[in-house]
Parts: sequence; C-alpha cells; structure tokens
Amino acid sequence: MILNDYLKDAKTNGYAIGHFNFSTADVLRGIVEACKESGAPAVMVGTSEGEARFVGMKEAVALIKVFREDLDFPVFLNADHFKSFEKCKEAVDVGYDSIIIDASKLPNEENIVLTKKVVDYARLHQNSEGRSPNISVEGELGYLRGSSEVQKKIEISLSDYSKPEEVSDFVLKTGVDRMAIVFGNIHGIVTEQEEKLDIEHFKKIITAVPNVFYVLHGASGLSDDDVRAAIKAGITNVHFNTELRVAYTEGIHKALHDKPDETTPYKYLGPAIDEIKKLVSRKIKLFMRT
Ligand SMILES: [Zn+2]
Repeated sequence: MILNDYLKDAKTNGYAIGHFNFSTADVLRGIVEACKESGAPAVMVGTSEGEARFVGMKEAVALIKVFREDLDFPVFLNADHFKSFEKCKEAVDVGYDSIIIDASKLPNEENIVLTKKVVDYARLHQNSEGRSPNISVEGELGYLRGSSEVQKKIEISLSDYSKPEEVSDFVLKTGVDRMAIVFGNIHGIVTEQEEKLDIEHFKKIITAVPNVFYVLHGASGLSDDDVRAAIKAGITNVHFNTELRVAYTEGIHKALHDKPDETTPYKYLGPAIDEIKKLVSRKIKLFMRT
C-alpha cells in the first residue's frame, strides 16, 4: 500500500496517521518502534528543511529504507514545509515519499502556481529510478503562525483561517493529495494562552471540499479532546514535533543531571528515547481511538 492508501483507510475508518519529525537516527528508531508496538497501521516521519540539512536527505531516505525492512513496518518519509521548488525537487529526486510545499506565505495565486509545479514534477518523476513509486503532495493554505518551539503567546485572527472557497479553488487548480489548513492551530507550544481549534470552521471546509486528505499541523499544545474532535470531523493526518523535541531534550537533561560524569552517548540518549517512545505511543492511542 502507498501512503495515500493508508490515508484513505484512515478517512474511511475515522482515525488518523501520525506524523513525527526527526533529525537523528535514534529519535527515528524510537518513533518507528513506538508506532509499531502501539498498533498504528503506518507512520509518516518528516524532516523540515533544517532537520534535513542536519541528518542529510540521502541519509534520511536510506534510514527509512532500513527501518522499513528491519522492523517490517510501513514508514513514509515526508519533506516537511519545504519552501521552494528546488528543495522539493531535491526531495523527490533523492527518494522522499511525500512533500509539503509550503508556499502559504505567498499570495494565493503564486501559492497555486508553485504548488502545481511541485505536483507536476512529483507526478512525472515518481516511480523512476531512485525515486519513490508514489509521491503524495501536500499544499498549505491560510496563515499558520508560530514555529516548532515553546513560545509565550501568539495572536491568531479569523483572517488567518483557510477559507472554504479558497481551499476549493486551490485543490482544483493544483491537484494536491493533502491539504494543510488553519482553523485555530498554531505551530509549536504556547505557554500563556489556550490553543483551541475551531472545529465548526473545519467542518465548513471539509463539507465544501471533501475529496482531499486534511492535515492538522501544530498539534503540540492542543488538548486531547480537541485533537480527537478534529479527527472525528475528518482530519486524517496529525503532526507533532515540538512536544517530541521537549521530551527528548528533557530526557537528556535529566540523564546528565542524574549522572553528570556519564560520557557514553547511548547511556544518556537511551532514557531520552524512552521518553520519545512513551509520548509517541500515547499519541497513537489518541489517533486510533476517537
Ligand atoms: Zn507543520
């Protein structure tokens, strides 16, 4: 089964496929093992442009291939919020299974032109040597504020939301498989305000444009109830990044605090991976039970 098949099954049966970011092999292993052990049907793992630079794009593709075979589990590699055609092309060329072309900061017409260019390139070049057999492409519309960090407060206004008629036009003109939309979600974790989804707004979008997979970005910091309600309303893919970064970093801090003289990386990284696994397992249970 290809990624879009898994998303289709999720849509039909009312659950969501998880998307988690990584920039090191130990975190990737923790994510994949936790997903397999928790009974997830598949997992998407992503590298942002920064994460991709750190781990290496070819290296990421090779790691996914090994984990897929070694753990006998469907893992799909996503280029997460790649901003330019050149970076998306590079991801397709080295064998990524999925791309998010994030041109949401551009005016809609320019966003459509750039996204369509990426869709066309992926369609034309998938299944040729060294590339993934089927590449799933995601576009983004609306103003998704924030970054993958812990922040105090972020102002969000109704004008940031994706509009149903604009989503309709965007999907029709670009031919994307998946849509990242904005309905109250923000990237990262905010500490001094409650992050709240506008499920009714999402329902308007999915009613107007039902024939695409919807992706919830910035799920770190949302309540379980909100995530569950979003999946129930039709979200089939949920992104977590910041909570994982926090768990990993706190795990390392704690291990080094407990044993300040420890110099063996796997001894202080191991407990941090255990934290990642616990968190991912908890999220998978949330995605599967709505
Ligand atoms: Zn995102």
